[in-house]
Amino acid sequence: MKKYKGYIIPPAVRDFFAGRIWDVARVPDGIAAHDIAQLIRYKHVAMQPAITDKCERCGITELIHYSLTYCRHCLTMGRITSNTTLMTWQSHAPRFTRFSYNASKLSEAQQRVSTALIASVRERRNHLVDAVCGAGKTEMLFGAIAYALKRRLRVCVATPRADVVRELAPRLKAVFPQTTAHVLYGGAPKEAGCPQLVIATTHQLYHFYQAFDVMIVDEADAFPYTYDQALQRAVYKAKKPDAPIIFVTATPSKQILAQAKKEQWGHSSVWRRYHGFDLPVPRYAPLFHYHKTLRKKLPPKLARWTTERLAANQPFLIFFATKKLMAQALPYFKQLHPTIESVHAEDEHRAEKVQRLRDEACVGLLTTTILERGVTIKNVQVAVVGAEAAIFEASALIQISGRVGRNANFASGDVVFFHHGITAAMDEAKRTIRKQNEVSV
Ligand SMILES: [Zn+2]
Repeated sequence: MKKYKGYIIPPAVRDFFAGRIWDVARVPDGIAAHDIAQLIRYKHVAMQPAITDKCERCGITELIHYSLTYCRHCLTMGRITSNTTLMTWQSHAPRFTRFSYNASKLSEAQQRVSTALIASVRERRNHLVDAVCGAGKTEMLFGAIAYALKRRLRVCVATPRADVVRELAPRLKAVFPQTTAHVLYGGAPKEAGCPQLVIATTHQLYHFYQAFDVMIVDEADAFPYTYDQALQRAVYKAKKPDAPIIFVTATPSKQILAQAKKEQWGHSSVWRRYHGFDLPVPRYAPLFHYHKTLRKKLPPKLARWTTERLAANQPFLIFFATKKLMAQALPYFKQLHPTIESVHAEDEHRAEKVQRLRDEACVGLLTTTILERGVTIKNVQVAVVGAEAAIFEASALIQISGRVGRNANFASGDVVFFHHGITAAMDEAKRTIRKQNEVSV
């Protein structure tokens, strides 16, 4: 009998590398260096230098020239230099066969968008969904995702915020229980199998190359995505060239609205929440010189607002423009109630803290803009301290206001902008919310 001389790719190796662009010198957990050598030897992967006139992983041309040339932009995903070789998958893709779908009941508006999205996926054209906070955007996506998964296509749901990934992932896994879905963000636990559905931060897309047949970008206007061209390119690089992109947001930028029009994308708008009630309109409360007061104590108005929430047993979020100001305020809040906590982007425990708020083990959270979107907490009340700060753009203030009244049983609530002077962004946010309330669909 003739001995087979080729290399049979172990499933775990294929599962990991299919659709990825990867530094050959980095051996992922659970894979042997020997397998990478074999993939190269038998040309199951294509090889290319990581650094040409640009970084081939993130597309940035501003490279750092030291003894070696390297890319600082995508450094957090592993350093690549002019000595690095990247490999991309050239062999057969895994076959996805298992599929089941727990369809949820949709409102009329959700159904309309869902049908339009399926049509866009079928026609492979991009689609913009702009739907107010609490319209039930995630549910609108299920139909289009189901359409693609059933046809054995690979789908990616990407969003700039890890908190949003953590919020979306369990919901998607529950709706598609048979689909292998991986959740990717910095520090996420490793999962087995080849993911047909990937739920990831946009940063994680640096590791993918022409992998997906349908790309969904949720919260498409969120920082840092809008300010980072490399992240935007990563979305295009991670999908197959003719794969459609669905952009979803409650606060579309002028640029994306113009692009959708110019390139004739599908476009769906929903200006009513799924439960039919109005969006809460923010109110203003002057809190002059709060910076100075917070060095010694809580400004009385802010203390009163918090005490009222505690008395009424209402969970709350209080947004701060800076980590520093928030840190100054925290001890005074703790005097009002010891379970009040603070969260920010670098906080390792922020997912647990949000969960404690949801479980009512914590009465309220102080937060930076990190929790401005994607977070749903029943009956939550919201305050912004220093709404005049530049970081609170109109879109941020609309998203923050959108945290309130999302549950049909608690469809209203308080949104207060404590400020040291009213800004154009504050007025724009208020005007936009009022306008959306006037529209009936
Ligand atoms: Zn790079």
